[in-house]
Amino acid sequence: MNEREKGLLAFHEETQGASEYFIVSYSDLLTKMAPAVLFHNSEFAGQVLEGVANWIGQMGRAKKNETLLCLNCDHKFTPSSLPSGFFIVLPFGKRTMMLITGICDQCFALEDLEEKAFQHLKKMWPEGYRVTQKGSS
Ligand SMILES: [Zn+2]
Repeated sequence: MNEREKGLLAFHEETQGASEYFIVSYSDLLTKMAPAVLFHNSEFAGQVLEGVANWIGQMGRAKKNETLLCLNCDHKFTPSSLPSGFFIVLPFGKRTMMLITGICDQCFALEDLEEKAFQHLKKMWPEGYRVTQKGSS
């Protein structure tokens, strides 16, 4: 079992079968999340920014065989080719861990990106199904 698989297993245990997810653009991180931390002391926005900073560090240090790939295609992220956004998964209602996956420019522009993201989750948790909540975004 490699580090990524170990991480997924730990995440799976933490979620107890229920997770929530969202997609955030790179620009929203800078124009919405960062101000939320600075001006409103948002703990959650801070966690997301920290998670993304860790992701970028991991990408920068990655050796050839551990390159971070796009959520939806084989695009490999490098410091000179950053994602347009991120797919972030959290254990439902807990926010104790975070799974972060980059999304390339082309995939970020897809109209059915949300559906693609859900299919990505289904690959990890084949028995998963979706419960949507209206109103909060
Ligand atoms: Zn892609």
